Amino acid sequence: MTHILNPDNSLNNWLKEQQFPAFRSKQIRRWLYQGRAGSFDDMSDLPKKLRDQIESDFTIWTSRVAEHQTSKDGTEKLLLELADGGRIECVLLKEENRRTICISSQVGCAMGCVFCASGLDGVDRNLTSGEIIEQMLRLQRLLPEEERLSHIVVMGMGEPLANLDRLLPALDQASAKDGLGISARRITISTVGLPKAIKRLADLNSRYHLAVSLHAPNDQLRNEIVPVNSNIGIDKIIESADHYFDVSSRRLTFEYVLLGDINDQPEHAHQLAKLLKSRNVLLNVIPYNPVAGLPYRTPSSKTISKFRAILLKSSINVQFRQRKGDDIDAACGQLRRKTGELHEIQPLN
Ligand code: SAH
Repeated sequence: MTHILNPDNSLNNWLKEQQFPAFRSKQIRRWLYQGRAGSFDDMSDLPKKLRDQIESDFTIWTSRVAEHQTSKDGTEKLLLELADGGRIECVLLKEENRRTICISSQVGCAMGCVFCASGLDGVDRNLTSGEIIEQMLRLQRLLPEEERLSHIVVMGMGEPLANLDRLLPALDQASAKDGLGISARRITISTVGLPKAIKRLADLNSRYHLAVSLHAPNDQLRNEIVPVNSNIGIDKIIESADHYFDVSSRRLTFEYVLLGDINDQPEHAHQLAKLLKSRNVLLNVIPYNPVAGLPYRTPSSKTISKFRAILLKSSINVQFRQRKGDDIDAACGQLRRKTGELHEIQPLN
């Protein structure tokens, strides 16, 4: 069975082989990307013969919804079980006119950030382009017909820049006019900060928005909480980020997760202000979303206020964000972990 969402020529080739006209491919794409067809049978303007034949050679969905949770604030989260048993998460957030989705790029994660649930068991594999698109379409289908997805953040499970070859064709479909039609500047790729891949992205003329998960203002602390930093260092990341800005004119975002008593002290705020000053960046500060079994916690509101006051006095653009979907384990990798424990799902070999 071929995955119809994998962006390659297999559908066009197949239509030709089976002697169906090429325009059928456009019709099929429209059904898929407008989120209106859950099966080939729903594609009512296709001849019955085509629907029957395509059904036996192609599949739309390769995953199964293992869980669907809805938060009090409207955030919805899907836990998808892939064909090989791997499990990933994706989230739909609703804020006024925005319909933002957060999608995964890998099963698990190899980066090992100490506070994050996704990387606790390492990485199993890269997602295919089709599996990345499948998350988008499953989430689009949760919305009423008149509502369209408006933003995508690749901030779910995995390190997107470690799977660029599959991610980019998927994002191309998201931004294509006859795909989801979401403009590139509304699509954010979040990375732990891999300078070579950031440069590659810049040199590919990427128009996507880039967010770098900094989480510490100096290498000593960053090495502790983001272990891959030991082989990279903040200077190289900032250098590649500047290059991305020069080439794309896209203002970068730096993410900073506040971990109680670890990176939340006034000295950290001062160092951060110094590191980022005179750069056209946005600093996003997010309180930690606690993960069961890990010893990290959210700072007190007093500590957060102090941290915030120092940064507001500095010259950098800073935004303090609220967490969403706390009651449904919406942070990276949390739901997979919890259900894994509850159902004792065996890891694949
Ligand atoms: N690997 C990429 C993208 C996935 S993680 C990256 O590092 O950016 C997306 C963001 O969620 C990162 O900034 C990550 O550090 C943050 N994150 C992970 N677990 C979290 C938690 N429990 N609470 C708050 N933020 C978390």
